[in-house]
Amino acid sequence: MTGAPLLLACPFCGGAAELDTLRPYRNISTGNVERGCAIYCLECSAEHMECYADRRGEDRETVIAEVEERWNRRTTPAGRAALSTTGGGNEE
Ligand SMILES: [Zn+2]
Repeated sequence: MTGAPLLLACPFCGGAAELDTLRPYRNISTGNVERGCAIYCLECSAEHMECYADRRGEDRETVIAEVEERWNRRTTPAGRAALSTTGGGNEE
């Protein structure tokens, strides 16, 4: 771990988000279980995932940083902004 980044709340329900940098999935072409980086909501089923196999030539830190940026770039529902945009004020 290189310091937990601040993930904004889920853009759909305002729930807390969690990062999984070793999310397993089954490659539809090879049938092998591979890994990807996923950020998902703990409350609803919203998720954004990027498969490392699709990003050959890039190191995982780059992919992870991009997934985090994409998640955080998404719109936060009106009225939920206070949960996430103040930065550092969240207790849980
Ligand atoms: Zn959600």
